[in-house]
Amino acid sequence: MRESDWSSDVCSSDLFPSHDRLWCMGGVVSLLIVNLLGVYIPLLIRQGIDELQENFDLDRVVYYAGITILLGSVMWVIRMISRMLIFGVGRKVEGQLKQQIFDHLLTLDPSYFARNTIGDIINRATSDVDNIRRLVGFAVLSLANTCFAYAFTLPVMFLINAKLSFLAILVYPVMLGIVQLFSNKLRVQQQDVQEELSKLSELIQEDLSGISLIKIYAQEDNERSAFAGLNQNLLTYNLELARTRNFLFPLLEGLASVSLLVLLGFGSTAIAQGTISVGDFIALTLYVERLVFPTALLGFTITAYQRGEVSIDRIEAILRAEPKIKDAQQTLPLLPSEVKGWIKADRLTFTYPEAATPALDQVSFSIAPGQTVAIVGPIGSGKSTLANALVRLIEVEPDQLFLDNVDILKLPLDALRQTIAYVPQDSFLFSTAIRNNIRYGIPDCEQPRVETVAKTAQIHPEIINFPQQYETIVGERGITLSGGQRQRTALARALLMDSPILILDDALSSVDNQTATAILQSLSTATHRKTVIFITHQLSAVTTADRILVMDKGRIVQAGNHEDLIQKPGLYQDLWEQHQLAAVLQSQLTVESGVGK
Ligand code: ADP
Ligand code: MG
Repeated sequence: MRESDWSSDVCSSDLFPSHDRLWCMGGVVSLLIVNLLGVYIPLLIRQGIDELQENFDLDRVVYYAGITILLGSVMWVIRMISRMLIFGVGRKVEGQLKQQIFDHLLTLDPSYFARNTIGDIINRATSDVDNIRRLVGFAVLSLANTCFAYAFTLPVMFLINAKLSFLAILVYPVMLGIVQLFSNKLRVQQQDVQEELSKLSELIQEDLSGISLIKIYAQEDNERSAFAGLNQNLLTYNLELARTRNFLFPLLEGLASVSLLVLLGFGSTAIAQGTISVGDFIALTLYVERLVFPTALLGFTITAYQRGEVSIDRIEAILRAEPKIKDAQQTLPLLPSEVKGWIKADRLTFTYPEAATPALDQVSFSIAPGQTVAIVGPIGSGKSTLANALVRLIEVEPDQLFLDNVDILKLPLDALRQTIAYVPQDSFLFSTAIRNNIRYGIPDCEQPRVETVAKTAQIHPEIINFPQQYETIVGERGITLSGGQRQRTALARALLMDSPILILDDALSSVDNQTATAILQSLSTATHRKTVIFITHQLSAVTTADRILVMDKGRIVQAGNHEDLIQKPGLYQDLWEQHQLAAVLQSQLTVESGVGK
């Protein structure tokens, strides 16, 4: 065990605020007092025994017994205080650490969560934090106790009788050697256990999120055996760890009692020879016994320590992750209410990490305030990537994207995101009242405004038909909305922000064409003077846009209004013809099914 650096690792790490360290110190000081008393009491007993052996006196017996009981009680109370202080700090550290991890997670970019699974993160934020609590609580207590016990007890023992003490502790270096030998192994095995635990959490989290898919594809058996495999691995690693511990701990305990045996053997001979007094012998026995417990506990202490260390590493890996998307060192002030709404892209290029081709390739365009611009193009042409770039959910190079002629990288992130209301492709709702979902961006918004935006998003009539109306809980525990209802709720949520720029990323894909077109039209009246960018595959809805950008393979291949674009041969004309064909087929189908009735 790296005893020398536990304090620098644990107590002065950034993970622990200074006042906690103070409480921790308080606990350690109490332990110090406990140990001083623990050294003094046997001395007192020795004195008593030697004195009473010479000259028995009942008053003196009462005196010695009384003072021993008194000091013993004081020691007991202070030991209790030290435990409360140190375990209390453990609990506090646990709480603060969880908060710190959560706060930090909130600062990280979406790309971090694409690289790290939620199950693993949750495991680190719970099970690993728990290990750190044990480290700060139990391990600190026991380690400090062991150090003090050795530091105070050994010198006094040697003063009483150097030879006997030496013989009694002869076995301790062997114990420390064994501990050293095993500490690496324990650490590696502990790491394996934590990692398997993470994999198991990942699987549970992912499978429960995708439970419908598992059922649709009837993959229950496969998932069950995948879980069984991981569970078996965890069991194997846990058993390996337990084997090491079960070998080590009894060995240490056994060796610790050897010292007592040695003392009994040599001590009784020494009394018989008259080299030590009975008082000396009893004091020595008490001291050796004081050492047996912390020494035997060394195994547990090391495990708690190793566990804590592994967990500190795993948590620090989260805390060390730097958000890539953050405010520039010097940002320019931006008042969302004063934004005009110019958007310009200048040879905007973006490649996802590990992707072979860029998702955005030299994209250039300029959008004037108040314009309604549609972006169309095949799946995978880069439309969502462009929207994510505008709100900086992905990190673009400097001097490629501008808002009111200022590089967006120079603007404060929160102000930029307040300026741009963005409805992403997947309309995520929280499992809370539908009202709270709509006013997510302005939690104290009044009902009339909530209803106004719900009306613009054409979701209001459906909400008031729900049993609890705006109080209806959506998501996990409440009513589950249809895709179209979710999308319109998400749209209402964005409209409430009343931002100068609105981006809809295929945000009405599950809403029928007619309603979608009606919503977009009412948007252009409701949001006059707003810049609106809407990405869509519903071509019927784009005909009224001021301008249409046509994307293909990360490039803008055509731009113009609907009338111009349908005249020119190109992607838009093809898409429009497909759309017309689909519309005709649709109407024929409707007619046929009507005739068939
Ligand atoms: P669209 O919205 O037009 O359908 P996207 O912008 O979502 O297209 O995707 C553009 C390209 O980038 C696609 O080839 C897609 O596979 C890729 N892509 C999208 N998101 C990611 C991501 N998070 N990591 C790597 N590649 C991505
Ligand atoms: Mg998309």
